[in-house]
Amino acid sequence: MPVMVSFSYIAAAVLFVLALKWMSAPATARRGVKAGELGMLLAVAGTLLRHEVVDYEWILAGFALGSAIGIPLAYLMPMTAVPQRTAISHAFGALAAALIGTAEFYKHPQHGFILGALVIEVLLGYLTFTGSLMAFGKLQEILPGRPLVYKGQNIVNLSVFAAAALAGIYLIANPSATWAFPVLSVLALLFGIMLIVPIGGADMPTVIALLNSYAGLAASFMGFALDNYLLVIAGALDGASGLILSIVMCRAMNRSFANVLFGAFGQVRTQGGAAEKRPVRSAEPEEAAEILEAARLVIIVPGYGMAVAQAQYKIRELYDRLTKLGVEVKFAIHPVAGRMPGHMNVLLAEADIPYDRLSELDEINPEFAQADAVLVVGANDVVNPAARTDSSSPIYGMPILDADKARTVMVIKRSMNPGFAGIENELYYMNKTLMLFGDAKAVLSEMNKSLAAQRV
Ligand code: NDP
Repeated sequence: MPVMVSFSYIAAAVLFVLALKWMSAPATARRGVKAGELGMLLAVAGTLLRHEVVDYEWILAGFALGSAIGIPLAYLMPMTAVPQRTAISHAFGALAAALIGTAEFYKHPQHGFILGALVIEVLLGYLTFTGSLMAFGKLQEILPGRPLVYKGQNIVNLSVFAAAALAGIYLIANPSATWAFPVLSVLALLFGIMLIVPIGGADMPTVIALLNSYAGLAASFMGFALDNYLLVIAGALDGASGLILSIVMCRAMNRSFANVLFGAFGQVRTQGGAAEKRPVRSAEPEEAAEILEAARLVIIVPGYGMAVAQAQYKIRELYDRLTKLGVEVKFAIHPVAGRMPGHMNVLLAEADIPYDRLSELDEINPEFAQADAVLVVGANDVVNPAARTDSSSPIYGMPILDADKARTVMVIKRSMNPGFAGIENELYYMNKTLMLFGDAKAVLSEMNKSLAAQRV
């Protein structure tokens, strides 16, 4: 039996590494997900074979309960709610790690290295649990999304964390001082809440990636405490990939970690009604279709609005029609378009848009100047020239897609309301810009109809 356990653990570890590798490119992402699933199945099956497992009743009950929550969660939450779905999953995972750590602490007297691992596991587990719940609440709009700040907040927060860490260090040095364990746990729970309170909704997805990293580290330390090397490996992979993801996201928004965690970004959001009353040029879908039909190169920039409207299938239809007409169509993918990294890739892949038509920011930016038309579908912040020109803008310095460099710019959105960062977009007021007001799916449908009526 131990041979079977070791074999399944080694196979699972290899599959987890391959899953991460494959998930990093759209063409292999599906294979990556399958490899991850198979790895997890082997990990669970291997663990059930361990000699420590004496009966299966509670495990079956947990399995039934977990499936009853997890399956509807996966099916019912829409793609646009994936960030908060991820947050709630981290909350569950981190709580599990913290509770196992708590049980281990009270079950056997612990000391030395194992006690150290337990303390870190419980500290990270509890703070990630409350932090992820708060992140979920903010994104689901159960809690106010704007940052709540007060003077001296960072000092208060860091003092709470330092007190939790000191309680942990004291416990490791004096294993008989068991009172320090609940102190450490309560302070960690409190710190998780305080960590998220000053962070605005706009930064939440980045913070979720960071909390993912903490949950992974908690699981890794749990592996040391339980002497389970697969947990050490899987937790470390999760910890490292979550950290890398949050770094990539910070870079794509030109923000530093410190600024995300302590900057109270998004405080001055003007979303909802603050749109300026300056004139813009608008057009009908039929006129837009004519412009696209006459173009040689068209670049489509999808954004969060495409996800809201679920317009990816209409985009696919437009792509097919234009390609048949001999128009070259490319897609420009901004790393933080939508509400999670890879959001646009997933949706466009769902509609079977060929991967080789998708280009990333650095690759596509030089091509905008050659494009006859750019069609912006529900994207706003990721094409906002203020990021290049307005040093007072909250998105100043964020790398953007140079949609404004194309000959004609067409923007599909429902109103003049701002995007996630809550700021005006000069792109809409340019002479060469045509606004196509309406829901993205409806406008694209009209454009497709118009193209169909003409020839294709
Ligand atoms: P934005 O949030 O800037 O803008 C989306 C636009 O879509 C809105 O202006 C909205 O305008 C429009 N829209 C909404 N619903 C529809 C609809 N049904 N049909 C047509 N248009 C619609 O999106 P971007 O993708 O440009 O930018 C993403 C933002 O999210 C950035 O600020 C980024 O920093 C932030 N972010 C992204 C993360 C990621 O990982 N992807 C992580 C953290 C933050 P209207 O209401 O007028 O229709």
